[in-house]
Amino acid sequence: MAAFRTLDEADVKGKRVLLRVDLNVPMEGGRVTDATRIERALPTINEIAEKGGRVILLSHFGRPKGQRVDEESLRQVVPTLEHHLKRKIAFAEDCVGKDAAQVVDALKDGDVALLENTRFHKGEEKNADDFVEALARNGDIFVSDAFSAAHRAHASTEGLAHRLPAFAGRAMQAELEALQSALAHPQRPVMAIVGGAKVSTKLELLGNLVDKVDYLVIGGGMANTFLAAQGKAVGKSLCEHDLAGAARDILAKAEKAGCAIVLPIDATVAQKFEAHAPSHIVSVDHVGENDMILDVGPKSIAHVESLLGKCKTLVWNGPFGAFELPPFDEGTNAVAQTAARLTVDGKLLSIAGGGDTVAALNQAHVAQEFSYVSTAGGAFLEWLEGKALPGVAALMR
Ligand code: AMP
Repeated sequence: MAAFRTLDEADVKGKRVLLRVDLNVPMEGGRVTDATRIERALPTINEIAEKGGRVILLSHFGRPKGQRVDEESLRQVVPTLEHHLKRKIAFAEDCVGKDAAQVVDALKDGDVALLENTRFHKGEEKNADDFVEALARNGDIFVSDAFSAAHRAHASTEGLAHRLPAFAGRAMQAELEALQSALAHPQRPVMAIVGGAKVSTKLELLGNLVDKVDYLVIGGGMANTFLAAQGKAVGKSLCEHDLAGAARDILAKAEKAGCAIVLPIDATVAQKFEAHAPSHIVSVDHVGENDMILDVGPKSIAHVESLLGKCKTLVWNGPFGAFELPPFDEGTNAVAQTAARLTVDGKLLSIAGGGDTVAALNQAHVAQEFSYVSTAGGAFLEWLEGKALPGVAALMR
């Protein structure tokens, strides 16, 4: 039995089901530019509707900070949502009060409604009791399908889960199952790859991972801070010299925990931070004073790939280099493709997440081949940091 309550245990027939989804999709010129979050919400919406529940969708959109802001109305998402659901949905101009009640009361079993942006009310982010109560008036049960918002203790992500019988939707369930199989009870050896720009944003994450994984591969700009902490010259590379002590602490903690830290052996360096800047490969012991490390080199890639071949589980956040600027995407692409092949061959469970990581894996054309790719930025990182997410804790038995 799962540690959290799932839709399998919910009797939704004839019930008003408040379903928290994440419809905070990117838009440009009034059009949704990436419908991934909408697509992920579909299975739960359809399942509840097919079982005869009345689906009442709740979501935030943008950061209107407790006021009605027309540009942040969820109404603009309705056409895309209807297109993907292949059905008409009702829309309420407010998520609480008369407008919401009118729309909800008119629903029949199997119908779907969307209520206006929860963040138009200050009580949402404050998790205010009266606002939770006002939301709860329109529902008999609560289903949470927005892992990406679960690191926030807001009224629609956490408050409602304490006020109504609460269950995880299918997207939330898939995310929690993937995350649990990656770090809570993984098949070993486990490798974590942590890349990206700065150590300062990922100190807690690194500290948590050294206790949980067998190999911690550090890439990206943050690897430079570790190299500098070991006394190596990093030229003009992105480097947080003031964090040398923190980097050494992590190295010491890893050694104690029996976690092997894997740093680059060689690097692709350039003198300009731009696409197709002239570049060459050097050992990390010979980075010139005008060089910028913009990617890992071929020896580092081969080393990571050979270790990955021994691993059963991979957790990945952050690129190996400045992947937006070719050719400094080569390290990320190569390791991503190897991880994808091992996954397809059934040898590796691969979980990746975090904003730039999803973009990097899409660019490497492997996102579909990974076991699970989380589109939840902040929530995924907080989970990697080992923190309890309030919106998840509220669904636990
Ligand atoms: P993050 O948001 O922390 O995952 O960082 C992702 C960003 O790190 C991307 O925009 C990359 O371009 C950048 N990045 C990765 N490696 C390097 C590097 N060696 N030098 C500068 N930026 C880097």
